[in-house]
Amino acid sequence: MSSLTSPPPCPLPPVPFPSPLPSVDTPSLILSLPRVHANLTLMRSTIAELGVDLRPHVKTHKCVELAELCIRKQPLSDDPFPGGGATGLCFQVLDELQPCLDSIDMFSPLNHGNPKLPGNKLDFFLTSQVLHPPKLRRLFELASAHEETTLISVMVDAVSNLETLAELSASHKTNLGVFVEVNVGQNRTGLPVTDDTLSTIVEMAEKIEKAPYLTYRGLHAYQGVLQHTRDSELRAAEIKSAVDLARTARDALAEAGLPPPVVTGAGTASYHEEARLGVHNEVQPGSFMLMDTDYGDNRKRADDEAPDFQHALWIHSSVMSTAMDERKVIIDAGSKAVDLVSGVPSFTDQADNWGMNGVRKDESVEFSSGGDEHGILTLKGGEYDQEKVVGADSGTVRLLPRHIDPQMNMHDRILVIEEEGSNVVTKAWNVHGRGPGF
Ligand code: PLP
Ligand code: MN
Repeated sequence: MSSLTSPPPCPLPPVPFPSPLPSVDTPSLILSLPRVHANLTLMRSTIAELGVDLRPHVKTHKCVELAELCIRKQPLSDDPFPGGGATGLCFQVLDELQPCLDSIDMFSPLNHGNPKLPGNKLDFFLTSQVLHPPKLRRLFELASAHEETTLISVMVDAVSNLETLAELSASHKTNLGVFVEVNVGQNRTGLPVTDDTLSTIVEMAEKIEKAPYLTYRGLHAYQGVLQHTRDSELRAAEIKSAVDLARTARDALAEAGLPPPVVTGAGTASYHEEARLGVHNEVQPGSFMLMDTDYGDNRKRADDEAPDFQHALWIHSSVMSTAMDERKVIIDAGSKAVDLVSGVPSFTDQADNWGMNGVRKDESVEFSSGGDEHGILTLKGGEYDQEKVVGADSGTVRLLPRHIDPQMNMHDRILVIEEEGSNVVTKAWNVHGRGPGF
């Protein structure tokens, strides 16, 4: 009699390190660590000039190693990179937060904490409302298990939810940070800011202040849709409108004697301008660290002083067929390997464009989906030089993602190149808690 056991999971294809790219199985995510360092260094100095705090979002990559790099303040004994110097981190779902807490030994309050919190605690903010009982249970389990090192914060936009948090924090005797979320134009979550709602916003801040186990963190005022407004004038107007609403809420709280310690929000396309408007004292960009072509396509005003970040991640795919016609190269990256919700990835020429001076998408080769496991590269223009695609890197191609967050969520691991200009991956990092977002 054989007993029924679960079949073993299929292992990921092994990558012996070091491995030159042509020998790495496809489709895979490849990350250039020198470029990530450059992006973080640039953001750290820009943030210092702006005089605000930085709290990068982990939803971008779901990777504990990248999260650690963001909040590192000083080099480690075995790694000379000084880090992004961020105050804390944002998480969208508990599945992103838990891996960082499970790896808490990678973080030390002195080098990764928020110097503005008592005991330099790690400052981890779940930029979500938590209402559903299974999530509340998990939140308080995590918060109480890690209270010594970490202050976990969440956000609220309803008095009833706030009352639940006050009760649960008291019954668990566990501290929780709370931000009041206001709607500043995304029209998704957050209390609207109107003459009628200002009293509720103040009431919520009062309730947080009064609850013995809740800490009043401030205001969450984030407008995500404007991040993708291409036109720079229009985007600037949307940013101003978001900041005006945040200012109204902040001033009402200050007048009631409850000035928000932190006013937080902003993403890669808005953090520079948003910080300069003087209401937010903390910004939350995430995509800047890896970049995607959607952000690359945003236009900038001539007087815009926000720096440009570099593409630091690509999808490594390989050629399957050229039989169809001379204009087409079929590759093994289809709708299960590349995010197609936000547009299509871009082909990038291999050899020349991966110097530190920038990666360009090659518009003469166009990606389209060929199905679940196939991608179609169509050569445009007069010369159908298939060799340019097929022959450049031993039959492998590089695609730049259109939208970095869903792209990362499709893969189990990131293969890392540690030296600029090198074609050799030397380690792998996991994408943690990927999936629907528990
Ligand atoms: N903050 C919040 C609340 C977000 O939802 C996001 C992204 O969606 C970010 C920050 C990061 O923004 P970006 O990826 O545009 O830098
Ligand atoms: Mn995004």
